[in-house]
Amino acid sequence: MNNFQVKENKEQISGLFSTKNYKSSELIHSVTGEVHKEPSKYTIEIEGQHIFDKNIIYMNHSCMPNTKVVKEKIFAITEINTGDELCFDYHTTESLITSPFVCNDCGKMIE
Ligand SMILES: [Zn+2]
Repeated sequence: MNNFQVKENKEQISGLFSTKNYKSSELIHSVTGEVHKEPSKYTIEIEGQHIFDKNIIYMNHSCMPNTKVVKEKIFAITEINTGDELCFDYHTTESLITSPFVCNDCGKMIE
């Protein structure tokens, strides 16, 4: 069972929101799913493979993330409270951003 749920964030886009409190460095999720040949906005790159994990397709990018992906594991890197949106820095996983977008934190193009 996942300790997060999909909800709309303040930008009115779907995001993943924590349903429990995490301490920094706690494990949040182990990425698992189909391996896709091509990267897409719904895949996450883990050691060169593009994984479609339906649990986390709505996890958004942040330049000030509260989680970090290490191999196939997603860890909290700050204290996270119930109701906080879970984000990671897409640049830390993807060698190519397939769908460039404007970052909601800093207004920069993420590409
Ligand atoms: Zn940013």
